[in-house]
Amino acid sequence: MAQDVLTFKKGVHIDEFKELSEDSNLLVLEVPKQVVIPLTQHIGAPSKCLVNKKDEVAVGQLIGQAVGNFSANIHSSVAGVVTDIIDIQTASGKNAQAVVIDTEGFDQNKEYILNEHVDLSKEEIVSKIKDAGIVGMGGAAFPTHIKYTPPKPIDTVIVNGAECEPYVTCDDYILKNKPEAIVKGLSLLVKAVDAKEGIIAIEDNKPKAYESIANYLKNYDAKVKLRVVKLATKYPQGDEKRIIDAVLHRHVPSGGLPMDVGVNVSNVSSVNAVYEAIYYDKPLYERVMTVTGHNINKPTNMLVKIGTAFEYAIDQAAGTKGEIGKIINGGPMMGIAQPTNDKPIEKATNCILVQTKEEAIPPVTEPCIRCARCVEVCPVNLMPLYIHKFALKEKLDMAESYRIMDCIECGSCSYICPSKRPLVEAIRFGKRQIRQAGK
Ligand code: SF4
Ligand code: SF4
Repeated sequence: MAQDVLTFKKGVHIDEFKELSEDSNLLVLEVPKQVVIPLTQHIGAPSKCLVNKKDEVAVGQLIGQAVGNFSANIHSSVAGVVTDIIDIQTASGKNAQAVVIDTEGFDQNKEYILNEHVDLSKEEIVSKIKDAGIVGMGGAAFPTHIKYTPPKPIDTVIVNGAECEPYVTCDDYILKNKPEAIVKGLSLLVKAVDAKEGIIAIEDNKPKAYESIANYLKNYDAKVKLRVVKLATKYPQGDEKRIIDAVLHRHVPSGGLPMDVGVNVSNVSSVNAVYEAIYYDKPLYERVMTVTGHNINKPTNMLVKIGTAFEYAIDQAAGTKGEIGKIINGGPMMGIAQPTNDKPIEKATNCILVQTKEEAIPPVTEPCIRCARCVEVCPVNLMPLYIHKFALKEKLDMAESYRIMDCIECGSCSYICPSKRPLVEAIRFGKRQIRQAGK
């Protein structure tokens, strides 16, 4: 029987450009001569540095200890010697201390043995997730061990396999090639919060990923209830509130969190990291990510060590075709443009998108024609035309009354606007002003 294709109201259909990298083989990057590992790769306080200059470190060694709430452990991705500890601005825009490690002359091999019989209590599962330093790897970087010790009951865990940002294909790669990791990882997360059910939700532009998971589930002797569902291909389907709406028809209240409606949502790469942490005792120090764009000679998914420079990863994708217009950490809708190409890859770096000069030319902005198309597509039911006007005029009370803080910054309004108004940029500006004012 054909399965329903689930979706949410509004949103936009955008050019996906997944074809650039979706069928690529996984390129396992050679260890670079140097990595720079930020000690802030999560939303909370920086991890405490555990190494000094001239220390030798091993692959997987703890080099940053989680401190305080919302912090996460950091491990060395390489074997080498610490040559410096510096202050940097990361690709996600945080000011952070970072450990510089030179790798030349060190043996980088490290073997992890499969634990065949995993039978852990929920406390032990969460403890291993914490030790491994796992965070939300779709961009949010929220520490996973905190998400799985919620103050409210959770009945459903959803694996977010939407990957709705254009160009990005790393989660698709994992779903297609590592179904065991996703199914077993989800089973662990369901157990961790005593949920009734685990659901893997995949957009219908990834039929091979869906088949891979569905086939694995057919023969999997699950101790918990698991299923896979299809989502319509629509942006921003991967936003966790949209996915909860599509899959369960539950509505997270304004200012609320998924746990307010009994749900936890985890990214595919994070679930893969949970599986590796528990079945292999492997900390999170490398990840699958996508290097792509019309300016890249060989767009591909690659396995990279955390701390590898963007520039090195771009070179390994056979470099660029021409002059670089813009480098983006993430996808084109919600990614962050980078001022330089030497930033280190972080746990939450799912994509490096390299645009041509032509692609990066800002559009010519025209006056608003009050067509309301931005309102028609906003998945949060906001009125972007008014909010952006109030934000630009710094009428913050008015912007707040039009629910500016509920904006998820998905960019659907800017994408659809025929006048190319800088809607999401203005809204981000307004939100920053409100936060700075301590409102
Ligand atoms: S889509 Fe653009 S032009 Fe149309 S109402 Fe919204 S801001 Fe104005
Ligand atoms: S107003 Fe915010 S949530 Fe609505 S479409 Fe624009 S960016 Fe997305």
